Amino acid sequence: MGEFDLIERYFKRPASRAVLGVGDDCALLQAAPGTQLAISCDMLVEGRHFLSTMDPFKLGHKALAVNLSDLAACGAKPLAFTLALALPRADDAWLAPFSKGLLALADAHGCELVGGDTTQGPLNICVTVFGEVPVVNARSQALLRSGAQAGDDLYVSGTVGDARLALEVFRGTLSVPAPVFDAARLRLEQPTPRVALGLALRGIATAAIDVSDGLLGDLGHILKQSGVGATVDTEVATNLIASYAYYTRAIGQFDTEIGQDQWLNWALAGGDDYELLFTAPPAARTLVAAAAHTSQTPVTHIGHITLERGLRLVDGDGQSVPNTYTSFDHFA
Ligand code: ADP
Ligand code: MG
Repeated sequence: MGEFDLIERYFKRPASRAVLGVGDDCALLQAAPGTQLAISCDMLVEGRHFLSTMDPFKLGHKALAVNLSDLAACGAKPLAFTLALALPRADDAWLAPFSKGLLALADAHGCELVGGDTTQGPLNICVTVFGEVPVVNARSQALLRSGAQAGDDLYVSGTVGDARLALEVFRGTLSVPAPVFDAARLRLEQPTPRVALGLALRGIATAAIDVSDGLLGDLGHILKQSGVGATVDTEVATNLIASYAYYTRAIGQFDTEIGQDQWLNWALAGGDDYELLFTAPPAARTLVAAAAHTSQTPVTHIGHITLERGLRLVDGDGQSVPNTYTSFDHFA
């Protein structure tokens, strides 16, 4: 199978929304009047972002999911994406499930594959997504990292920390009951981009980011770009880990090798969660609840934004907790 057969077989489909899709030198997209394009790019490198043994179907899902998550964090509606792929060899047994996983998620979000590049080389997957954000009264409706205000509530969607737990099991540093691993593994390998929530939060959230490197690290970007500080409730954060809930509710005890501090570390700095972390004024609480409801996405209030800069962690009684949690940084 040559390069062009490969593209034809696995990645070329009739254009639907795009004016021109795969097959020419450029794809053509018609931007709707009164909108801006939101563009983001994320690369997955074997050994760095995924293990070489990862199921190609799940990898296809994840490659697009992490990009859709960026659109979600901006409140952008997915339109199209491109795929730059380096492959060691043209292997049907890998390409068929990979493209299936990728295109299934694309179809679920009406996000069309319109082009890309294919080369031989060490496995590397780079997706660029294009989304649409309305402009109302000359103002972009995009959710940015820079809009958090002192007094705003701080929220996170879904659950955090489980992807990290699954990674630790893969690394062999711990073992957990099969139901816990299966659920956590789904979070690591097939994250759910919170696109509907991001759209529902337009005009409500003052700032937003998606949690990819770890909750506190990503919160740090909001704080820096908004010029504010925050207080985060560590007890609420620990309870956001679905696996933790399993241990406390289903098993009802802690005779495991996982200590309380370990749980908290995964919640606050675990990474690979792809949840939305966002701020909104207290006056918008009903609107936030309505956005969570319409998007069918659980949302939890985990703290608030302060005028005083810096990050403060507190326990359930409001007592300060030392911050020893560091998020992922490729070059740290
Ligand atoms: P060019 O040499 O002009 O860059 P290519 O020969 O690399 O074009 O690609 C031919 C067509 O196939 C282009 O429309 C390109 O966007 C598309 N394409 C290449 N690789 C992929 C891929 N992995 N997924 C989707 N489209 C692809
Ligand atoms: Mg090319």
